[in-house]
Amino acid sequence: MLQIWPVQAFADNYIWILERQGSTRVAVVDPGDAGPVLAALDERGLEVGAILITHHHGDHVGGLQEMIRRFHPSVFGSSTESVEGVDRPIADGDVVALSDLGISLDVLALPGHTSGHIGYVGNGLAFVGDTLFAGGCGRVFEGTMAQMHASLSKLASLPPETKTYCAHEYTLANLRFAMAVEPGNTELADRLAATETARAENQPTVPSTIGFELATNPFLRCSEPDVVSAAVAQAGHNLEPGAEVFGIVRRWKDGWSG
Ligand SMILES: [Zn+2]
Repeated sequence: MLQIWPVQAFADNYIWILERQGSTRVAVVDPGDAGPVLAALDERGLEVGAILITHHHGDHVGGLQEMIRRFHPSVFGSSTESVEGVDRPIADGDVVALSDLGISLDVLALPGHTSGHIGYVGNGLAFVGDTLFAGGCGRVFEGTMAQMHASLSKLASLPPETKTYCAHEYTLANLRFAMAVEPGNTELADRLAATETARAENQPTVPSTIGFELATNPFLRCSEPDVVSAAVAQAGHNLEPGAEVFGIVRRWKDGWSG
């Protein structure tokens, strides 16, 4: 029985812990800060057998050295990004076998937020870093809008019941923006209301599922007529559904302050 639970770090980061009942060796995704992870593991008598890195940003790798010194885990990360401490460089199509957990995860290239960003997918789970957020998506810093759209489309094609674990609690702000894009989406309105309640109680709103994101996340809905027409109104000219619409909606969100 696999359990996945978050450690909160900084203002709004989630560091995901993969734990198998009966094993004391866990895997950790994107330890941006070692302190809260070590505190949570020590409290439970757990140690780290593997670390999975999605991309090179400091809030995802900042705790790596301290965790390596303490546990000497296998550290998986993108072969095209330079992260000190990664000793298992991997790329799209590779398989990461996590023997302590009894599972394997497939590596997916997800360029866009960073050019070498990767995700880890399998067993009904997807660790997506800063690519697909609950109700939104990451900013496009290093790749192109077309690359980010293609990366999100890869995730969108996973089975709808796949649970998606992103690295930030951005859901409420994302859904408020989503409502500006698609005010007529009733499932989205319901999701926003439920998220407002959850956040008022300080409950995490992650993980989500691919199916829920397909129904409510505008960045996965760039061929839906309502999203297309909202993007066309923003752009002031006609747009091809898909990547072109995505680029406009992403820039709209970049400049959006609620
Ligand atoms: Zn990032």
